[in-house]
Amino acid sequence: RSENPRPVRLVFLGAAGVGKSALIHRFLHDRFEHRYAPTVEELHLLELDTIRLEILDTSGSYSFPAMRELRIRHGDAFALVYAVDDPGSFEEVRRLRGEILELRGGKSAPITVVGNKAELTEAEGRELSAGDAMATVEREWEANFVEASARTGGNAVAVFRALLQQVDLPQRPS
Ligand code: GDP
Ligand code: MG
Repeated sequence: RSENPRPVRLVFLGAAGVGKSALIHRFLHDRFEHRYAPTVEELHLLELDTIRLEILDTSGSYSFPAMRELRIRHGDAFALVYAVDDPGSFEEVRRLRGEILELRGGKSAPITVVGNKAELTEAEGRELSAGDAMATVEREWEANFVEASARTGGNAVAVFRALLQQVDLPQRPS
């Protein structure tokens, strides 16, 4: 039914185990499962209001660097996901941002950084504070920042709202 010229492509990138698949699943089905296939790349197609959406859930394990390049060139907006209990995953976000800027040129890109597993307290393993991450992401990188939890569902919708906010939505022909 959609007359949109082409779908809006949202690309999820980030270290293995941060919860990319869980976040997408939460948004699409409002459910949390404990395990997802870690190596499969999945493309979800849906229509939201009048917007055709493609959500690419990457696995990160590309056999060829060219594959990842292609994903980055084709994205309209990027969710760079880390987990609040995994400082290394934030460093991966930093690296991915650099790669996106390099490939696309320019000083900014439509990036939303997502701190997932936000329900974790320090006692439960949280190592990264929302404040520190937000300072880097919003002030230094001028990107969107959202903490979310696929487990509780908190802010799962906000992640997609932030992503779509960065996209020039295709106009339907009138
Ligand atoms: P992906 O490799 O980035 O796609 O990560 P997955 O979605 O497969 O999730 C990796 C692991 O993190 C799984 O064991 C999930 O159950 C767990 N996980 C995902 N989201 C959350 C969350 O919001 N909170 C907690 N505590 N665990 C989560
Ligand atoms: Mg996954």
